[in-house]
Amino acid sequence: MKLLFEKDIHGSNSFSFPEPNIPDTVDVAIPEEFLRTSRLGIPELAEVETVRHYTALSKLAFGVDDGSYPLGSCTMKYSPKICESIAQLPGFADIHPYQSPLTVQGALKLLDELQEVLAQLTGTDRFTLQPAAGAHGELCGIMIVRAYHKSRGTDGQRRVVLVPDSAHGTNPATASAVGYQVRVVKSGQDGLVDLDDLKSKLGDDIAALMLTNPNTVGLFEKNILEISRLVHESGGLLYYDGANLNAIVGVARPGDMGFDVCHVNLHKTFATPHGGGGPGAGGVGVKEFLAPFLPSPTIERDEDGFYSFGTNLPESIGKIKTFYGNFGVCVKAYTYIRLLGYDGLRAVAQNSVLNANYLKKTLSEYYDIPFDVICKHEFVATNARQAKKGIRTLDIAKRLIDFGYHPPTIYFPLIVGEAMMFEPTETESKERLDELASAMKTIAEECENEPDRVKGAPYTTVIGRVDETLAARKPILKYTIE
Ligand SMILES: *Cc1c(COP(=O)(O)O)cnc(C)c1O
Repeated sequence: MKLLFEKDIHGSNSFSFPEPNIPDTVDVAIPEEFLRTSRLGIPELAEVETVRHYTALSKLAFGVDDGSYPLGSCTMKYSPKICESIAQLPGFADIHPYQSPLTVQGALKLLDELQEVLAQLTGTDRFTLQPAAGAHGELCGIMIVRAYHKSRGTDGQRRVVLVPDSAHGTNPATASAVGYQVRVVKSGQDGLVDLDDLKSKLGDDIAALMLTNPNTVGLFEKNILEISRLVHESGGLLYYDGANLNAIVGVARPGDMGFDVCHVNLHKTFATPHGGGGPGAGGVGVKEFLAPFLPSPTIERDEDGFYSFGTNLPESIGKIKTFYGNFGVCVKAYTYIRLLGYDGLRAVAQNSVLNANYLKKTLSEYYDIPFDVICKHEFVATNARQAKKGIRTLDIAKRLIDFGYHPPTIYFPLIVGEAMMFEPTETESKERLDELASAMKTIAEECENEPDRVKGAPYTTVIGRVDETLAARKPILKYTIE
């Protein structure tokens, strides 16, 4: 092997490349008839052109690093960058799931401690970090519910999962995927579960009730202990959709409210940005009596503090994810929890609730608020006042883009017509909330005085309004070359 840089005998530097060791014929395993005969028709560009192309694209996107992003239920809050740095440390990023547990004791310790602290925060006894998203956590949790009923011989009889009409769409989808019939429970005028309707739907065919609390209109189910008692009395279990834990982390615990199973989106509350289809984590916690059904393998620690994978679990629902979940997301969550500590997490909840109520109060001057009571981390407004001028919620959301904000979640939850769901998050300062409120005020004035301006928005983006339904139904996924 020759060196790349060699001093020649005259002492000057010259380049000397090693002889390329390419044989005349290459013995490839691919048979001749399958070999490509023409060039691959992909564009070949210089690095500089490629970098400029992607940089230009990245400037078209809007993220939390650009400004406020009050997308209700999705919790687009700022995640400390240190969490990313820690997750990228070679000891975390460069390990392989096929390595022997002997060589990854630190990683297993981290997962074990994260499970422990999440169990503490949710008031459950055992936790798994396998599920890769909220919906996946629900799947895991409802499979555990079904395994429990099977073990008691009640699976054939208990065929129904109750879901309130305010629930996230993943709840009924999950129940159906696990083979259950979905029975919808109505919300009352106050936006909370209608207790009479719930009572009329309970019976010995109920496997579980899936509930989000605070619910998707941002309200705390104040009757939760009564709901829990009723469901348990009928022999059903209580499932907690903890996709968004921001309003209650460090303040209240699903386990204390009577829930038996819950999932938590690490990518909404614990330092991984939600959205964009990136990796998530939807860990599931259960009360002790459901622990035998948790997915395998579990992480076990022996008396000497040695970690290993537990696989001798006869009643387990089995493996629901390759390897052990999205480890990087777990590292970020662990870092975030250690960074903030218990008091810091509690402050997250308190500030997210304070910010939502401050914004709600400010906006209530210009927009209708269907449930104008103290909310938790998010609240719903509507276009009721602006509708008189023919303005739809979509128009208001599109106009907000021109002011440099990401719009709130719109047309969800379904129980409120023309909903705009704002979740300001705890990471926005009072100044930013005032700016956002002032933009919403300007839009309300425009709706009054020049409604067509609002109907034509946005004006500052490369693409204006697209047919989102068509884009979802008939996506063009193929790259074509002119
Ligand atoms: C986001 C969310 C989910 C689903 O979580 P994913 O990680 O997107 O699958 C479920 N329920 C509620 C209430 C949510 O806000």
